[in-house]
Amino acid sequence: MIAIMRDRTFTPDPEQMALWPDASGNQINGLNEAGFRRPRHVYWHDPDQITFGQVQKWFYQKNADPSLDESRRERARLTAIPLPEQAAKATSRSATDWTALIREKAFAFGASDVGITRLDPNWFYEGYSAPFSHIIVLAIAMDYQNMKAAPEISAGVEVVNKYTRGMQVSKNLAGFLLEQGHAAEPEFGPLAGPMTVIPAALAAGMGELGKHGSIIHRKFGSCFRLAAVLTSLPLECDSPDDFGAADFCAACQVCSNACPPDAIMPERQIVRGVEKWYVNFDKCLPFFNETAGCGICVTVCPFSRPGVGDNLVAKLARRRGGT
Ligand code: SF4
Ligand code: SF4
Repeated sequence: MIAIMRDRTFTPDPEQMALWPDASGNQINGLNEAGFRRPRHVYWHDPDQITFGQVQKWFYQKNADPSLDESRRERARLTAIPLPEQAAKATSRSATDWTALIREKAFAFGASDVGITRLDPNWFYEGYSAPFSHIIVLAIAMDYQNMKAAPEISAGVEVVNKYTRGMQVSKNLAGFLLEQGHAAEPEFGPLAGPMTVIPAALAAGMGELGKHGSIIHRKFGSCFRLAAVLTSLPLECDSPDDFGAADFCAACQVCSNACPPDAIMPERQIVRGVEKWYVNFDKCLPFFNETAGCGICVTVCPFSRPGVGDNLVAKLARRRGGT
């Protein structure tokens, strides 16, 4: 067990720091870069292709707990199940009917929320692309009671299990579209594929980016994980859901006060030409790696607390309505 030291005295394990590259993750992410560019893989990717690959490998070595290992084995087993072949004959439906059917299927497969938007090539990592026009974003709610244990291993198990659920939902939905004769590609974590899903999720109405660098959903707060399906079906798109959470962050310090390595930056930053909330990667990662993925900031966020989050959303709506 690791003690949470809010007096900011967390000292990273020298074994981890011995593997630390002579590079800054913030620089790879484009912190303080005024001009726009596409993102670069910084973590959760093929370790042989990223600067922080040795540190990423150490994460698994450090967090080799039996319950985590069992969850990861199950995830690997389910990931290996192949998708069905694409049917030769393509089913034809209107955009309205496809959209309704996809929502129905996604919820039936286990999604907690669904949003659709047009695919923006700028969401792909440098050097990557995909021949699709739309992205179906899937939210998978995590169990708040399980996440309350963060940064204990049991919260890490909850995260792994919900990534597994996201993988299953995205594979099932992509499989359904393939059986209908339409190309589709599932995207799921924790390893990053060709694109970063967060901007797509924001565009698809999954919520707002919070100070802790994660999305705040109006129903689940930050207690959820993302998966997606890429497709070129004609679909009706959702709009961003601006309910006031990101502005609320300006006056709230709950996550930054709770973050042991003090990684959550108090002001919005310029990242690859865009002003947004940003977490200091180089400060966060050592603690994250030693605590099976930490999870403190997403759990302490008041929007994540059942009941509290609903009241906050209602209060923000009243404030905007002038009542
Ligand atoms: S995940 Fe990172 S930013 Fe969030 S509380 Fe943990 S160390 Fe801090
Ligand atoms: S804890 Fe407060 S500042 Fe942090 S993301 Fe949640 S609302 Fe924003």
